[in-house]
Amino acid sequence: IGNNASGTRSVKYGAARDSVLGLKVVLPGGRLVELGTRTRVASTGYPLERLFVGSEGTLGVIVEATLRYVPIPKFRCLGVANFAKLEQAGESITAVMASGCQPSMLELIDKVAIEAVNRAQNLGLPEVEAILLFEADGMVKEAVDFEIERISGICAEHGGFGIEYSYDPAEQARMSAGRKKLFPSLSKFAEALASTALADDMAVPYSHMAECARTIHEVAERHGLVMTAYGHCGAGCMHTKILMDTSRGDQWQAARQAISEIYEFVRRVGGTTSAEHGIGISKAGQFQKEKHGLLDLMRAVKAVFDPNGIMNPGKLVEAPPDWLEAGPLRYHVEDA
Ligand SMILES: Cc1cc2nc3c(=O)[nH]c(=O)nc-3n(C[C@H](O)[C@H](O)[C@H](O)COP(=O)(O)OP(=O)(O)OC[C@H]3O[C@@H](n4cnc5c(N)ncnc54)[C@H](O)[C@@H]3O)c2cc1C
Repeated sequence: IGNNASGTRSVKYGAARDSVLGLKVVLPGGRLVELGTRTRVASTGYPLERLFVGSEGTLGVIVEATLRYVPIPKFRCLGVANFAKLEQAGESITAVMASGCQPSMLELIDKVAIEAVNRAQNLGLPEVEAILLFEADGMVKEAVDFEIERISGICAEHGGFGIEYSYDPAEQARMSAGRKKLFPSLSKFAEALASTALADDMAVPYSHMAECARTIHEVAERHGLVMTAYGHCGAGCMHTKILMDTSRGDQWQAARQAISEIYEFVRRVGGTTSAEHGIGISKAGQFQKEKHGLLDLMRAVKAVFDPNGIMNPGKLVEAPPDWLEAGPLRYHVEDA
């Protein structure tokens, strides 16, 4: 709740904010307040509970939450499609989202991620520019069948191949193994490269997902870095990892420049700095650029709830704009 987390199924079920009906919060002075309601609808003044979701501990301490539940679907069908070109996957994402289908998952895996899991796990995934994982779920099997066939058909219309889908958990585990084993695989991509979570989380309108991944690859290459681009593409959520030699000072400078260029692209297409991980320190500079016209209002909100500035100080609006200078790195840098 503190950072409005979401995940692979946010394309259908939303982020934490969509599930929070009410909160109990202790304000910095010790006052306990109850925010929100237990009802599905409310039009009762400012929805302060929504303000606290994603506030990253900067306003008060959440001590209780009332959540909206949804029933667990009886049927889940997972599918996969391979694309020679990133743009074909991008067109499929847009077409699926515009089709009226409600996928419960739509995940993009890029060529760097594919290479990483093939190297580390020997999975034998096709060496293509993009793989889409898609899922439909529901209480009625015929409805799930209809959606999964429609999504598969859309992928095929846009050049997808090797398309398959299954209700069988063992088959689903096989199809999603690449995505599940991605993080440890990235760490083993190359002996000298560490997988760093720097510009690791952003969101763009889903119609720009392929362009965003392409931009990330181009920027990384120009700066002598390796970057992967993957994410919950139906929700427009893009994750990256920068694979770099963390002992080299020039790689950190390159990473800083690459991140800056990637976020310029994100803002240009109407995207936002963080999809689900929050701002903290490392994304503060980009967040402050994106919200530059609103920082005075955000500071004023912070001052109302936390006049003495004791709640998670030095984050969000208060964070230093340059993460590289913000504090000691947890890596040893030889020529820093
Ligand atoms: C490998 C990995 C994968 C991840 N994948 C995802 C993903 O798929 N989706 C996603 O959304 N995120 C993902 N994350 C990031 C994830 O969102 C956060 O790590 C997680 O949500 C933080 O939860 P936590 O309980 O550890 O909270 P913390 O890290 O303790 O806190 C998160 C924020 O909430 C604030 N906070 C904590 N407790 C309170 C409280 N009681 N009241 C008010 N504020 C509070 C903190 O100050 C902080 O700003 C991933 C992280 C990792 C390391």
